[in-house]
Parts: sequence; structure tokens; C-alpha cells
Amino acid sequence: MGDVCLHVAGMKTSERCEEACPLPGLGKETAVIKGALEPMATKTRGTARSKLSDYRRKRDFTRTREPEGESAKSTRSTSARPRKRASTLHFVVQKHAASQLHFDFRLELDGVMKSWAVPKGPSYDPSVRRLAMEVEDHPIEYNTFEGTIPQGEYGGGTVMLWDRGTYEPENGGGVEALREGYARGDLKFRLEGQRLRGGWVLVRMKRPGRPQWLLIKHRDEFASSARDVVEEEMTSVVSGRTMDDIAAGKKRASSAPRRKPAAKKSAARRSR
Ligand code: MN
Repeated sequence: MGDVCLHVAGMKTSERCEEACPLPGLGKETAVIKGALEPMATKTRGTARSKLSDYRRKRDFTRTREPEGESAKSTRSTSARPRKRASTLHFVVQKHAASQLHFDFRLELDGVMKSWAVPKGPSYDPSVRRLAMEVEDHPIEYNTFEGTIPQGEYGGGTVMLWDRGTYEPENGGGVEALREGYARGDLKFRLEGQRLRGGWVLVRMKRPGRPQWLLIKHRDEFASSARDVVEEEMTSVVSGRTMDDIAAGKKRASSAPRRKPAAKKSAARRSR
């Protein structure tokens, strides 16, 4: 696991850093990172009010159409609103073509979406451990965001809703088990998405700096070392659009099939 990212983990002065950059060939910079960390990571835990402050500080909402988040509206009393029942918690995975393509994995917890940037995306293979860099909490409203963040803005690039659904702690225990797992750095959960299902774990690595986790599939009936879900699923789970469709501002999916036409492709190759 030499792929520590200086761009993220070593970030000091610039807050405009992309949230993920799974850069190949960064191995040589790993040593620099280890020696020179200023852990802004310690900020990840905060009170409910401050949870979205990182999220908001990084963005200019006059320029991006990303949601500001309800708790951002300072004058409104949020305490008066009935709290959403905690029994159904949602997750979302967004494919994000920022300066480096990555998948943003978000789990609802205590009124925000805890968020990880997963450079290679999830894998159904239990022997595969995918680096998941924890990033700032996102508002719940981010769960419906699909579109393009303007270039030059934080995270500039196309965002696709790649999967969504509900999740729960793998072994019961309700939201308390999730809080405890998150705090301990060993978060086990079951996903009920359209593309991601079954048991998974996020394990926090003991490293200085911004928290880095590993996303790993548990062995169960959904696990498979044969499938590559990131390659299989190339369209929005909501709109059916491809990344190109979204980037082009198309309202609807182009006539392309929802799944990668693997059979067609090989047929075309044969006919050449
Ligand atoms: Mn992202």
C-alpha cells in the first residue's frame, strides 16, 4: 500500500485540492508525506453544527450547483424540525471525473453523509482492498446530485449517481453500532443498493494525516472475484446517462444500452 497521495494527505495551504487523486507513480513521494504531515485530519470529528463547515468552505455556491445543505442556512432553526427516523439510512456512490477519476462512497450517519473517495471504486472480490480516503462530510442533499461542477471550482468535473440504496450495520445494533464502528475505524455494514449489495467493511489504517481506510467486500453470497462492477456499470443508476451524456448536459440517456455492450464489442472486433 504505497499509494499515499501527497495531493490529499499532504495538503497544507491550498484548500482547493481535489479530494482524490489516485496518482500512479506517487510512491516516491510517500516518504515526504510521512515526514511532513500536518494532520488536518483531526478536524473530521466535530459537533453536528460544524460538520458541514469543511464542505461549505471549499465551495462557492454561486458557481457550483452542488447543494449547500440545509444546515448551511444559518437562520433556520433546524432543531425544530422533526428528525428523520434513523431506521432507514441511505448510501450513495458517485462517479466523479475530477482531475482524477474516482468514486465517492457516502454513508448517511447522524445527519450527514460520511464520505470517502475511492480511487478505483468498489470491488466484489473479497481479496481486493480498495483505498478509501476519508473526505469532508457532505450534506444529505448531495445524494441526488448529478451534473457537472465547473472547472476551476473545487472538485471540478462530472458527477454521476453510480449507485444508491440503503444500508445497515452488518451485525445489528442500529445506528449506535455504526457510530461505534466509525469511531473505532472498523465499520461493518450491509448495502442494499442496485449495484452494491451484501456485507462490506471500511477499515481505517493507522497512519498520520487525513484518515485513509480500506473498503473490502465480505465473503457472502454476493461476493465474486469474477465480476468487475466498476467496468460493468457505466451509466447513471438514476438517469441512465453516461459520463459523456452528463458532461454534455443531455437531459436523457443517449440510446446507448445501460450495460456495457461486451458481446457487441467482441462481435465488432471479430468482423474486422
Ligand atoms: Mn469526489
